[in-house]
Amino acid sequence: MWQCPKCKREFKNKNQDHYCGQTLTTIDEYIKDQPEEVRPVLEKIRATIKKEAPEATEKISWRMPTFWQGENIVHFAAFKKHIGIYPGELDLLPFKERLLGYHTSKGAIQFPLDKPIDYELISQITRFRVGVVNSKKKPK
Ligand SMILES: [Zn+2]
Repeated sequence: MWQCPKCKREFKNKNQDHYCGQTLTTIDEYIKDQPEEVRPVLEKIRATIKKEAPEATEKISWRMPTFWQGENIVHFAAFKKHIGIYPGELDLLPFKERLLGYHTSKGAIQFPLDKPIDYELISQITRFRVGVVNSKKKPK
């Protein structure tokens, strides 16, 4: 086990990339807690998601900004070198080929901070997730 010297949380991997601020309760607080140069990116991602998911509630869940509509629509989080977008199962996304240039892991897509962020892709992901959530609500 490795313990982060800053936040004292324990991780399996040494130097695990994670968020180590205080427990934050709103997306505003989360963004304010990030390095200055990342804040405009996070605000733009938030606005991009909000536009596609106007009925979703903003909250912090799993220590990440979250758009919630009965379930998670999408989480996002800032790391040192990338932004993580968490839309759930990536295998279910109908445009997997768009993700090929990205580093992905189970349920997460990494948008490197040294390249322009593809906000259009984030829009598409959000639109897809909203569609999935809405379709579950419809009466049979
Ligand atoms: Zn930490």
